[in-house]
Amino acid sequence: MHCCGCAVDFDPARNGFGDTTPNFGHIPAVLDAFASEEWTWGGKWGKPDGMHWQAANV
Ligand SMILES: [Zn+2]
Repeated sequence: MHCCGCAVDFDPARNGFGDTTPNFGHIPAVLDAFASEEWTWGGKWGKPDGMHWQAANV
């Protein structure tokens, strides 16, 4: 998704890949803002990627 320009990562130091309690999970305003634009957050995936949002869903 990154190479296609439809994904971004933010604050990897506090939202590391595989972290089951990413910091963004405690900031509903951020989660809601992306969700309102229909972006998908990686923090809820089976292997959490809390730094990751993507605009495409495949
Ligand atoms: Zn990413």
